[in-house]
Formats: sequence, C-alpha cells, structure tokens
Amino acid sequence: MIDLHTHSDASDGTLTPEELVHAARGIGLEALAISDHDTLAGYDCAAPVAAAVGLELVCGIEISTRFHQGRSGRGKSVHLLGYFLNGGPAPEFRAWLEELQRGRRDRNRRLAARLQSFGVNISLEEVERLGHSVAGRPHFARVMVNKGYVARLQEAFDLFLGEAAKAYVRRDEPSLEEGVRRIREAGGTPSLAHPGRLSNDHATLERMAAEMRGFGLTALEAYHSDHSSADATFFLDLARRRGLAVTGGTDFHGENKPGLVLGSVDVPRACLDALREAARRS
Ligand code: AMP
Ligand code: ZN
Ligand code: FE
Ligand code: FE
Repeated sequence: MIDLHTHSDASDGTLTPEELVHAARGIGLEALAISDHDTLAGYDCAAPVAAAVGLELVCGIEISTRFHQGRSGRGKSVHLLGYFLNGGPAPEFRAWLEELQRGRRDRNRRLAARLQSFGVNISLEEVERLGHSVAGRPHFARVMVNKGYVARLQEAFDLFLGEAAKAYVRRDEPSLEEGVRRIREAGGTPSLAHPGRLSNDHATLERMAAEMRGFGLTALEAYHSDHSSADATFFLDLARRRGLAVTGGTDFHGENKPGLVLGSVDVPRACLDALREAARRS
C-alpha cells in the first residue's frame, strides 16, 4: 500500500508533517509522498522523522498551472504534481516556489478584499494564522465556518470560493508547459494531478493528454479519490497508449477533506518502482 498524494499543514492539510508520517506508519503504508501546494517545507520537516521510523518518504509538490488548449479563452486551471526521486530538487526550483508563494499571497489579499465587499468580514491575518507559509482557499473556508458565515467548508466553496462562485479571484498561474519544464529541469517527474476533474469526455481527455505529452509531461495520476474504478481503468489505458507513467494517491488533507482516509486509494507499489526506475535512467 502506498499513497503518493497528501497534504500536510505546511499547505492546506491539517496534520503536521510529523503526524502525517506517524499516521502513514500506523496504517502500514510502504511509501508516502508529501505533495503540498507550492512548498517543500512539509517534506523537509518530515524527512528526518520518516528516516527515524523507517518509512519510505517521497519528495513531492503540487502546483496550480493554467492550460490553454488551442490558444483560446482563459484556459483551465490544471494541477501538476512533481516527484523528486533522485534527491531533492535543485535550488532554483525552491526559488521559483517562493515566487509562486508571493503570487498566492497577492491572490489571498485580493480574495480577502472581495469577500469583504460581499459582507464577509475576514482578514488576511486570520487566514494566514491557520495557513502558515502557504495559506489557501481551504483556510478561508475554515475561517468562514469558524465565524459562522457558512455551516460547512463545502458551502464556503459553493457560495464564495469555488471557480464558479461569486468571490472567486484568479491567481497568476504559470502555464502548464512552464510547470512541466521547471519540474523536469529540477530533476523531477511531472504528473498530471486528478485528470478526472478536467473533463468527463474521453475524446477531450485524449487530446489534452497528447498535447501535454508534447510539453514533456511524463506521468498522470490514474488512481485518485475522485476517480471511479472505471475512470482509473480509462486513465491507465490512456497512460499506456501515450507512453506516460502512472501515479496515484488519496489527496489526503486531514480535517480539510472530511471523510477522506489516508491510504484509502489502492495504488500499486509497482507505480513507484517504475517512477524510480525511469528517474534513475534519466
Ligand atoms: P488554492 O490553492 O488556495 O486555490 O486552493 C485550492 C484547494 O481548494 C484545492 O486543493 C481543494 O482542496 C480546494 N478546492 C478548490 N475548489 C474547491 C471546490 N469547488 N470545492 C471544494 N474544495 C475546493
Ligand atoms: Zn489542497
Ligand atoms: Fe489538486
Ligand atoms: Fe492535492
């Protein structure tokens, strides 16, 4: 049993990196990747703890990018995972993450102002108190629940924070192409996160995967808690046909995704072995 997609409280999960390692050990996971949004701080904290308890820990990242298919429109927000299997990423990559964090902070400032304009009185400081270095929309949602503006986290997204909701503000996101290039230049393996969220249409997904493969994408996340077993089967086949490796995980966020259990998506150990083998050869 392995889980290659998890978030610690260095981004928008609720377990500390140490707690995440112990939780993984406790349920007998063979390998765990911490793939926080825009930061390696959780991985960095967890690495010595994992070494001490004998857990195989993989250095991961999740980045929000923009994908323009056919050059038209505003494009789609696409999450990209990166796995660093040959030791940590190059220092330039960490510097780039700091740039992304600045862009996130700017978005957060605008989002707080927009929420204020809808009568939701929450400040950036309150959100950042929960979000450490990388505050995100789940932290806004949490503050809105705590202050009684909404009853549940999901309601905050449905009414205010989601991409189709009224307070949504866009963030400067790197292009998918740039994300893929940066991860590869840093020695990592880029994997398309939860592709099932991109479309329900198989032909569209085929076209997207082909174009992303052209940018240098090397893997996709066939196994994910949002995917049905039919989805997983489709993405496994798509990956095989397009020469992409396969990754998978739960997208565990602790109490920020209530009911989603660490290690609860069946991801074959062979996925990680194949990634390691490909990284060793590259
Ligand atoms: P951020 O990176 O700050 O823009 O926040 C993105 C995170 O918010 C995602 O990883 C999800 O966990 C959560 N999220 C985004 N959209 C929704 C939605 N419509 N419903 C519930 N959670 C969402
Ligand atoms: Zn998240
Ligand atoms: Fe994601
Ligand atoms: Fe995620």
